[in-house]
Amino acid sequence: MTLQTNVSYPEMTSDFLTSQVAPLFDQSQRYIDCVKTHGSPLYLVDPAMLIRQAARFRTAFASLLAHTRFYYAMKSNSMPEISRILLGEGFGLDVSSGMELAAALDLNAPDIIFSGPGKTNPELKMAANHPDRVTLLMDSMGECRRLMAILAEKKQHLSAGIRLNCQPQGLWQKFGIMPDQLRPLIQEIDAHPFLTCTGIQFHSSWNMTPDRQVEIISSLSGLLSAMPPEFLAHCKFMDIGGGYWPEKGEWLVSDDPLRHFHVPAAPVETFARDLSNALTRHVLPHGNFCICFEPGRWICHDAMHILIQVIDKKMPDMVITDAGTNAVGWERFETDYFPVLNLTRPGLTEKPCRILGSLCTPHDVWGYSFFGTDIQEGDILMIPFQGAYTYSLRQSFIKPLPETILL
Ligand SMILES: *Cc1c(COP(=O)(O)O)cnc(C)c1O
Repeated sequence: MTLQTNVSYPEMTSDFLTSQVAPLFDQSQRYIDCVKTHGSPLYLVDPAMLIRQAARFRTAFASLLAHTRFYYAMKSNSMPEISRILLGEGFGLDVSSGMELAAALDLNAPDIIFSGPGKTNPELKMAANHPDRVTLLMDSMGECRRLMAILAEKKQHLSAGIRLNCQPQGLWQKFGIMPDQLRPLIQEIDAHPFLTCTGIQFHSSWNMTPDRQVEIISSLSGLLSAMPPEFLAHCKFMDIGGGYWPEKGEWLVSDDPLRHFHVPAAPVETFARDLSNALTRHVLPHGNFCICFEPGRWICHDAMHILIQVIDKKMPDMVITDAGTNAVGWERFETDYFPVLNLTRPGLTEKPCRILGSLCTPHDVWGYSFFGTDIQEGDILMIPFQGAYTYSLRQSFIKPLPETILL
């Protein structure tokens, strides 16, 4: 358990934890039936939850802003079924590689945003081949020049946007162009016969509150006033990215299996209020922009669970399960806390017990405790809320990967 020790985190209260666990136990039988029918381990997707999250996110912002569009960030969970469901809810897709772009095109997504650093020429060409469906966000001057050469050779017109760097610290420098490069880049694009710049994007990650995004939006006012009026006249969108942390907050382990930390996050309606106020004050006076959003984690975090089974009880406080954490692709549960629910022997008391996977590495931990009356071989366990940044990172390592089942 390797947490930063120089930071003190707020404690998770047992009332809060019970409020998260109890509703899942109420549905135990449905989950158990999935394992009885399909075996274990399973990725269990909850389409109704996904649809609810998409609707809540969209309503929060669309009720406060006149023109909005919503793009699901495919990298947060690349399961095609999840993108398909969100397309059905009227979301577009936000992709960050040629591989994701090809998947989005295969899904017949009508509206795709393609952002990310270091796009290759074949990736730029793929985007340029679908100008009606893909909005490319240029990440640098060099990338923009490569794109211009491709368009000139094909004699093809394209509208694209520019990603702005909004966190010039450390490794975040790799994304987008610096604000002082915006005007020269726009002038260069204006002089090109085949490329038009129609939007600006920024993205900041890990936002527990809207404060940092509000700060970035406030800084755009000065930047936009310095832009040529012809540019503002054909600039159609302002894409404010993703990075909204789910309202549940961030949950972390401590050295005590029964103590957990809970870093709270603001509800999406608070993000919507503060961001739309900032946009109305600082951005919308400069042009009639459609405001675009790229949420990933916020949409899918609650919409997938993992079901596993106890295969071996080796000690009173240590069990081995039939799945390894290659199913999530990283040593998530050594730092992040998620309750382990024993669906077979439900109970709202948490008991210490090491819940380990069956990979040949000790870094294969599901949790250090479980909820239930007892734990025995054959018991079906649930690791809830595994929708974000697990499935996309899953690894082909030692054990087979879980099957996917839709509730
Ligand atoms: C990763 C990413 C997102 C989604 O971030 P979440 O934290 O999952 O909301 C959105 N836009 C861009 C450009 C990204 O790189």
